[in-house]
Amino acid sequence: MSTFSAPRGTYDLIPPDSADFLAVREAMAAPLRRAGYGYIETPGFEQVELFSRGVGESTDIVTKEMYTLTTKGGDRLALRPEGTASVLRAALEANLHRGALPVKLWYSGSYYRYERPQAGRYRHFSQVGAEVLGAEDPALDAELIILAADAYASLGLTGVRLLLNSLGDRECRPGYRTALQDFLRGLDLDEDTRRRIEVNPLRVLDDKREAVQRQLTGAPLMRDHLCEACKEYHEQVRELLTGAGITFEDDPKLVRGLDYYTRTTFEFVHDGLGSQSAVGGGGRYDGLSEMIGGPALPAVGWALGVDRTVLALRAEKIAPDLPRGTEVFAVPLGEDARRALFALVTELRRAGVAADFAYGGKGMKNGMKSADRSGARFALVAGERDLAEGTVQLKDLASGEQSPVGLGALVGTLLAALRPEPS
Ligand code: AMP
Repeated sequence: MSTFSAPRGTYDLIPPDSADFLAVREAMAAPLRRAGYGYIETPGFEQVELFSRGVGESTDIVTKEMYTLTTKGGDRLALRPEGTASVLRAALEANLHRGALPVKLWYSGSYYRYERPQAGRYRHFSQVGAEVLGAEDPALDAELIILAADAYASLGLTGVRLLLNSLGDRECRPGYRTALQDFLRGLDLDEDTRRRIEVNPLRVLDDKREAVQRQLTGAPLMRDHLCEACKEYHEQVRELLTGAGITFEDDPKLVRGLDYYTRTTFEFVHDGLGSQSAVGGGGRYDGLSEMIGGPALPAVGWALGVDRTVLALRAEKIAPDLPRGTEVFAVPLGEDARRALFALVTELRRAGVAADFAYGGKGMKNGMKSADRSGARFALVAGERDLAEGTVQLKDLASGEQSPVGLGALVGTLLAALRPEPS
């Protein structure tokens, strides 16, 4: 223990558990790469204004949860609380929207929110995200949802549920908003919630408190107010999902509170996670580009939470397929053997075999203990006599069988044993 510990609401990824995080990130990225998404990376901080406009002045993220700072040069910056605004800012700055459309992008990184920490809710967390810019096509909304569902499925998760809704558009949303406000104003609500009715009425539907939810029975729902075009669009998304074998639940109260969110909105939840059950979410945000000073640009995207997906794996007791751990562990006995085996380990690694070495002159007993602990399938042991004969001892750590192998034949022998050709 040093004098310091990880800041409140954060934690370190330490082996062997950290391997699960890599596996989750990879599982989320693989379907995107196969579907033509290009990788984008943006800075960990941006001008505060980008988020206050791009996430919304009235959201908790902006009013309570942003880590902001003023630089020595007087710039007001914020650690990024989410990815969409930054990705859109970067794409517009690079004029991607003037090239072939749609632009499909994916990203992976750290995000920061000053939230009250609890299981599944951290101040530093990790997301993999995807955004598609410049096209309004129900097939894109469906594609993104399918790619996320496939990512969860590829990890072996069976407990992820998809909730789906449509938020309408500029045509039909304003009328619904007014109808909802009229209904909400008649309820018995606290000051804060009353204020929310005026700024962000859809968010009230999302209130988790039992006393509020009880009063919301009978609230007008967007689905009964959708215009023909939005109804048709949503129906197509639903059909495409069904055609792809994706199960979803219509959730007419699923909302995103801001005006630039339009039409498709969705969330992936896992019931094994307690109150922080959202493992990912997203939707269409056709108005966001204009909010941050860009041209009209329809867009749709999602962000999946890596931390909570790892928790979901643990809740379902799934050990993901991990990248290969150590396969061969070398234990040298004496100085000459050290040189010879070190060269062999380098050669094995270059041939694609995960190999490690008993560093620190451990001797036979401790060296073999390390070999066992490494989880390797084979140990290589060599002493003066083996080297004089031009061999090393190859030991199968599962069966305990051991036999000498000529130095020149070793890499080939190991490759044949570790990667048998399919017959
Ligand atoms: P959001 O941008 O709030 O829609 O978040 C997208 C996903 O990121 C959520 O579904 C969560 O899985 C994850 N997430 C958001 N906030 C946190 C947090 N404070 N700690 C851990 N994961 C989070």
